Amino acid sequence: MQEEQELLSKKGFILDVDGVICRGSRPIEGGVEGVRALLEMGKRVVFVSNNSTRSRRMLINRFRSFGLDVSEDMIIVATYATASYLKREFGELDVFTTGEEGLVEELEGMGHRIVDYGKAECLVVASNRNLNYDLMTKALRCCMRVEKYVATNPDRIFPGWDGPIPGTGMIVGALYWMTGRMPDAVVGKPSEIIMREALEKLGCKPEEAVVVGDQIDVDVAAGKKVGCKTVLVLSGVTKKVNVAEKEKAPDLVVDDLSCLFK
Ligand SMILES: [Mg+2]
Repeated sequence: MQEEQELLSKKGFILDVDGVICRGSRPIEGGVEGVRALLEMGKRVVFVSNNSTRSRRMLINRFRSFGLDVSEDMIIVATYATASYLKREFGELDVFTTGEEGLVEELEGMGHRIVDYGKAECLVVASNRNLNYDLMTKALRCCMRVEKYVATNPDRIFPGWDGPIPGTGMIVGALYWMTGRMPDAVVGKPSEIIMREALEKLGCKPEEAVVVGDQIDVDVAAGKKVGCKTVLVLSGVTKKVNVAEKEKAPDLVVDDLSCLFK
């Protein structure tokens, strides 16, 4: 009880989406309930998702379908965070991407131009549910010639509503196997890049914020990297906690987000 109370005294909450609020397009009841309770308490909330196919606009529509009214500035998706990272580091770029329209929307919104693989100065790798041989061929050629190469997120697999589905790692792994090249930067969790952006958006120092997620290596690791308190929920891919090394363990483990209030 004491740990819950200490966590609830924090100013800001950085919440993972898949496995905390929903599984695919289906809401997790306790997750949605938990978000409402946090907002009612007047907490600052930012959602941070490693999803590489949806834009912020698409995620807002999904939240609305769960009965949660959130604004664009409460959401950081790996798509948006990647577009914003590239702009901050290099300005507006000519980009070739393996990604879907959600990523293209965020890249173009940030001023980057989508071009063919032969003309790109940057390769942005992200999931694509219509991935095929032709797109992999272009990605391969781009990867072999381009100077800058980033990936939206490092996820090998994602929790779909009926079981695991391939993540961006499917393409990162294939390109590595073919070329020996790994991305220069990976933006999504557990990278500090996306977490710093979340803290900035919250207007909180790390010690004022709590990170909540369903994966130890992704969410808990990301929270610890920037110095936040961490909560692991068992409503997503992690069903049992078995952390051998104490420094990797979350501060609290609960069944779902609403359990913080019980
Ligand atoms: Mg998750």
